[in-house]
Amino acid sequence: MTPETDTQPRPGGPTVYLETFGCQMNQLDSELVRGQLAALGYSFTPDAGQADVILYNTCSVREQAENKVLSRVGKVAQRKRDGSPVILGLLGCLAEREGTRLLSRYPQIDLLCGPGELNRLPMLIDNAMRTGAVEVADRVALAGNRSRRSATLSAAADNLELLDLSRSFDPDHAGGPRRSAYVRITRGCNKFCTYCVVPFTRGAEVHRPPDTIVDECKRLADQGVIEITLLGQTVNHYRYTHGVAVGLEGREAPQVGPGAAAFRPGAGSGNVGRVTSFADLLGRIHDEVPAVRRLRFVTSYPRDFGDDILQVMRDCPRICRYLHVPAQSGSDRVLKLMNRGYTRSEYLEFIDRARGFLPDVSIAGDLIVGFPTETDRDFEQTRSLLQRVRCKNNFIFKYSPRPGTSAWDRLPDDVPETVKRLRINELLAVQARVSEAVHAEQVGRVVEVFVEGASPKSRAASARGGEVELGWERPSVGVQMSGRTAGDLITVFDLPPGYSVEQVQGQILPVRVEAAGTLLLYGHLEATTRPSPEHGSDPFPAARLAQFEMSESVDFAS
Ligand code: SF4
Repeated sequence: MTPETDTQPRPGGPTVYLETFGCQMNQLDSELVRGQLAALGYSFTPDAGQADVILYNTCSVREQAENKVLSRVGKVAQRKRDGSPVILGLLGCLAEREGTRLLSRYPQIDLLCGPGELNRLPMLIDNAMRTGAVEVADRVALAGNRSRRSATLSAAADNLELLDLSRSFDPDHAGGPRRSAYVRITRGCNKFCTYCVVPFTRGAEVHRPPDTIVDECKRLADQGVIEITLLGQTVNHYRYTHGVAVGLEGREAPQVGPGAAAFRPGAGSGNVGRVTSFADLLGRIHDEVPAVRRLRFVTSYPRDFGDDILQVMRDCPRICRYLHVPAQSGSDRVLKLMNRGYTRSEYLEFIDRARGFLPDVSIAGDLIVGFPTETDRDFEQTRSLLQRVRCKNNFIFKYSPRPGTSAWDRLPDDVPETVKRLRINELLAVQARVSEAVHAEQVGRVVEVFVEGASPKSRAASARGGEVELGWERPSVGVQMSGRTAGDLITVFDLPPGYSVEQVQGQILPVRVEAAGTLLLYGHLEATTRPSPEHGSDPFPAARLAQFEMSESVDFAS
């Protein structure tokens, strides 16, 4: 009997607490883990204190995320000392990077599962619950040095594909009908930025077959999903050559990415088969799955982003005009030390080209301050880049050396903490002004908002057991809803009287923007499309929304 088949469904089975740290890729992994365990009879609880199994899906990119996980691990140790039989598992990048060292340092950890081995998680839990597994081999599933496959090996042996394929979408989880889902198109990364551990923990870039991806989008749409975000560490690198990776049963299989050479001008003449590029894939999903009203993708790498992608974004109205394209630094010298593979002027050329095709494109980025040897002059170049690009927001981080990266081995962390703090505060202040100005441009417009639910402010008020005044210019009492525009601008509005959160959540609705701040747009539902009670549980007839979509596209073009 193989270990996997030893895992049996258990009606009324154990209860799991699953907490996710880090990026969207981890969130998707957790969703897949959840579906996999639910199918085996496990149930889930939001209260770690009530769980039989505690799982932390970890991130290794930032030191802060690691420290949070390890502090939680410490708390579980106390529970175990008090006699609780709880099972503790670490999944994800921290587990993969640190490996069995974690078992020695934290004996309360029962199992470790890397991001490339999540299909083996049920077997690990089963081992721990049934036998209290003591052998390391029964407690650990890590890719180890297999995580970087040679390009000559077929990625068809990638068991994680089975987990992606077995996806059972659960619209009820996370407290409501979200109607929004992630779809992975590539796994891993070939870039080796010197500060990043991902190429080691998630392995080489592997691209999923386009037919499989389109099928997954169709299944999600059939289940009510109207917004899909395609995920890849360098999503614009997606490139699938048909005919070279075919499984035993004749189906196309995931294949290892072609490397940078495939993106050079004139490349492709030597391909043995037809190629589906990222632009082709976007176009296929847009045309073949029209029920998906918003198609997004993250994260874009600033190089190798062809005009073909920008053209398809321009020509397909349901592809969001939104790019998350991290610069990381504005200094050529630092970019080189980071091994980012582009210069400041190449980054700016891409931004200008994107805005040339899509004047209304909304851009977000990531920046790191205090990278080893960063001087005042380097920092000044980052600050000027931030001002020049005018991102709607930037995720700004202080550099922290991560074990397992080449910067950890080669570049002393020599920028003092006080300097890092001053620099991050300065960048945050500049970004706040830029964000406020970007948001202010929307005031007076009608924007389409995908409503995610009650705003955090509203949820906090409700948790305190009372209603509070919400709103802005005219204080109101009620529930404040929150959602995002196609350009990913967070927008809040007051729920109209007589309507429940459930009636509005998961809808794309027109909101007139009345005011703007650093983080948010504030508005009200447009009067002409405001729901009325006679529409019952479907207060937003499709015809009226279609009418709105046409009028909004005019608004954006103006
Ligand atoms: S592109 Fe660089 S920062 Fe992004 S995942 Fe790959 S190595 Fe890490």
